[in-house]
Amino acid sequence: MDHFTASLADADPELAAALEGELDRQRRQLELIASENYVSKATLEALGSPIVNKTVEGYPGRRYYGGAEFADLVETLAVDRAKRLFGAAHANVQPHSGSQANLACFLAFLEPGDRVLAMDLAAGGHLSHGAPVNVSGRVMEVHHYGVDPTTGRLDLDAVAEIAREVRPRLIVCGASAYPREIDFSGFRKIADEVGAVLLADIAHIAGLVAAGLHPDPIPAAHVVTTTTYKNLRGTRGGIVLTGDAELADRIDRAVFPGVQGSVILNAVAAKAVCLGEALRPEFTGWAQRVLANARALAEVLVDRGLGVVTEGTDTPLVLVDLSPLGLTGRDAQEALERVGIAVNKNPVPGDPRPPWIASGIRLGTSAGTTRGLGEAEFRRVGELVAEVLAAAAAGREVPRRVPAAVAELCDAFPIYPDQ
Ligand SMILES: *Cc1c(COP(=O)(O)O)cnc(C)c1O
Repeated sequence: MDHFTASLADADPELAAALEGELDRQRRQLELIASENYVSKATLEALGSPIVNKTVEGYPGRRYYGGAEFADLVETLAVDRAKRLFGAAHANVQPHSGSQANLACFLAFLEPGDRVLAMDLAAGGHLSHGAPVNVSGRVMEVHHYGVDPTTGRLDLDAVAEIAREVRPRLIVCGASAYPREIDFSGFRKIADEVGAVLLADIAHIAGLVAAGLHPDPIPAAHVVTTTTYKNLRGTRGGIVLTGDAELADRIDRAVFPGVQGSVILNAVAAKAVCLGEALRPEFTGWAQRVLANARALAEVLVDRGLGVVTEGTDTPLVLVDLSPLGLTGRDAQEALERVGIAVNKNPVPGDPRPPWIASGIRLGTSAGTTRGLGEAEFRRVGELVAEVLAAAAAGREVPRRVPAAVAELCDAFPIYPDQ
């Protein structure tokens, strides 16, 4: 078997079969997991490039290894595109993930033991925003704000009150499961009043932000983090952005050598691809469809009497409280998976259940929109979801036409036809 020419199927049939199985699953399942998307063929090619062999540390023009000419070109392309896409003064495209991007920001602006104010995980925040089980929560003194228990919305007066009490050195806004717009300027006023740095994490809304469909965090926050694989439709990884050029060095030093070593260059190349795609005019149309689809999906679920948190959405995601149905998030996730619909269980505001059971599900439209589904299809998806949940709540069998309808939708919108 020749190292340079043997295909994966020949060299490692066992692994090749697992990957083939995953591709088949993606083709057959309707992906409503909000943190997922389908990357382009161009992105897959960049990820599979032999640039993966190159080791570099540091930044373009100041590397610790030689032979970095093309690595520098690749990273510079990604940085320039990120800056252009978000109107940022500086971008760091090296973070291996969104969590690493956030950790780097903690390192950049905080000393161990400093106080941080962030959204509660149970209210829609993220692990890397100071959850006790995460390094961010173990090293810092983290305080949390939630959402208004009756409206499910952020209440900035309540956040300001906690901020005045806690006097945090850093405030984190942005969430994993919050369906409404985030008022970054409102957060900045609070940060300024208490002398805190404002970090905006736009992982779930980055595409909408880039397309101008969500308030812009760059002028409001000192520093902005995102993942590239959710609503930006790119590869797995993170980016740190800032509108303040004076913070550039501090951020770069925190990413490397602060929390990471060498650069995953094929990932950086793939980030450049997705950022280039997002700079093209068609991307705005895609982002508009993601939002219109999320609103259509939310509307159908509201019409069907489901407990849609905040009764709608301004984002790619819809959060459904299943407690009125007497159904747990875990049971709903399993029932939907049996008909070919992938969602994730998710805590809802004030959730009494632990996160591994949860009282809600989170649905996202980024992946489905990339696949080609429009509002009519998402309305149909909403009806199918409602039908499955009603059957599960009543302990009834789901009619066979439901998985058949899911399969039909998947067949009508194929992915990776030549893969
Ligand atoms: C997904 C997400 C992250 C982390 O992303 P990873 O790449 O999984 O580390 C960070 N913040 C928010 C708000 C997210 O939703």
